[in-house]
Amino acid sequence: MSDCIFCQIIRGDIASEAVYVDERCYAFRDIDPQGPVHVLVCPREHIARVSDAQPTQEDLLGHLLWVAAEIARQERISEGGYRLVINCGVHGQQAVEHLHVHLIGGRQMAWPPG
Ligand code: 5GP
Ligand code: ZN
Repeated sequence: MSDCIFCQIIRGDIASEAVYVDERCYAFRDIDPQGPVHVLVCPREHIARVSDAQPTQEDLLGHLLWVAAEIARQERISEGGYRLVINCGVHGQQAVEHLHVHLIGGRQMAWPPG
């Protein structure tokens, strides 16, 4: 989608710091990090919300989680633990309507979320 900010980042039209790239996904550092490590893992194809994913995209959804865990190993936060978050829609406070998995780590988290 041409006017989607994350599609523009994935295309390289907007600068970002990539940490993991493959044929299905693009992962980059969040501009407003909520921890020492904060990476957004996005599918290359535009899916607005996780709730919009189709049965044919089930493998892709799994791949995003696998990539997030791989980046956590790469960033050396795997042993200490981390949080994966997918915000969805209004109640989930999703700000950017291009599916992304937040990988946040490198500090102690609190639970439950607000
Ligand atoms: P959401 O609330 O949609 O789950 O999260 C969107 C995230 O995208 C936020 O954490 C925000 O800081 C990040 N973000 C928004 N615009 C940009 C940008 O232009 N570049 C990068 N690297 N991150 C962005
Ligand atoms: Zn998009």
